[in-house]
Amino acid sequence: IAEGLHCIGCGARIQTEDKKTLGYLPAGALAKRGEDDALYCQRCFRLRHYNEIADVSLTDDDFLRLLSEIGEHDALIVNVVDIFDFNGSLIPSLHRFTGNNDLLLVANKKDILPHSLKVGKMSAWLKEQAKHAGLRPLDVLVTSAKNQDDVRELMEKIEKMRKGRDVYVVGVTNVGKSTLINAIIKLVTGDDNVITTSRFPGTTLDKIEIPLDDESLLIDTPGIIHRGQMAHYLEAKDLKLVSPKKEIKPKTYQLNAEQTLFLGGLARFDYIQGEKQGFTVFCDNELSIHRTKLAGASEFYEKHVGGLLQPPRAKELSSFPKLIRKEFSVKEKSDIVFSGLGWIRVAERGLVAAWVPEGVDVLLRKALV
Ligand code: GDP
Repeated sequence: IAEGLHCIGCGARIQTEDKKTLGYLPAGALAKRGEDDALYCQRCFRLRHYNEIADVSLTDDDFLRLLSEIGEHDALIVNVVDIFDFNGSLIPSLHRFTGNNDLLLVANKKDILPHSLKVGKMSAWLKEQAKHAGLRPLDVLVTSAKNQDDVRELMEKIEKMRKGRDVYVVGVTNVGKSTLINAIIKLVTGDDNVITTSRFPGTTLDKIEIPLDDESLLIDTPGIIHRGQMAHYLEAKDLKLVSPKKEIKPKTYQLNAEQTLFLGGLARFDYIQGEKQGFTVFCDNELSIHRTKLAGASEFYEKHVGGLLQPPRAKELSSFPKLIRKEFSVKEKSDIVFSGLGWIRVAERGLVAAWVPEGVDVLLRKALV
């Protein structure tokens, strides 16, 4: 019965067999569908109604096909990343396939970083991080999809850099690519009729093309799912904690060695060795932070996760991964990054450990702020 049907959200072919692949819709839901109902796969339906991210895999084949298709065109590539989750928004091996294309790196959501942070400093930091990741952007731009002037500045930069060529916009899901594209469409066409759903990887159908002039197009490609993001381990109601909407107010904790901070029940930070110093947490303002002694911290977690330490909620505990520990020796002002959740700035040298749910990335980087 699913023959030839496509999801209007992501363009994937509707199928009723495999929950874990694109376009899945339970057979029952498909049968019950009214003639005129818009057809969404389960994942798009949930995203629209609950803002939920289901775990659907993009096969490597789809992904490589998409990148190599782009690599074959002489076009400008605009890679949108989330400045709040830079590492979690990198596309693996992007540079291998698109190394000959001109690249503009756009870091979105600057509005959630402390407003005192200078754009020049962010750009310099971004260039350094990009280089570190093997990317060679011709230019970088820090922007906010929610700010019209920023979107205008982005369009001007794209116009200048594309030199009459097509433009491909790429990015992993959740970086705000659709929001940016919608803002661009509005700017270019004056059209308010925006794309309301996220689109998904693996289909060529869901590419959206916006004419820039008589000859060239801006092509919005499907978002690619990045596995190491915290978002994949949270239930719908808690997703806001990894997608802050407002300016983050950093919180500083003076810690002695042998003290621990819990970020809800999602992550843990141990100060193992070093002088007393301030540690600054950059996370959603609503995330509750608990300080405790390092000795006994594991028992404290076992006892309080799902309760005092939330999220995860009590009923999710059975499926929530255990926390895995990684140790870092900090030599200079650095961030310990809990992918997608935020980071803790360590100002002075010291030995620390960071714990994240198994599967989520954690890393040390040069401090952003
Ligand atoms: P996509 O998956 O990359 O297309 O991401 P979306 O456009 O669907 O955006 C993901 C989430 O980030 C949504 O909740 C957006 O409202 C939010 N978002 C997008 N751009 C910005 C931005 O510039 N600032 C802030 N604070 N949030 C943004």
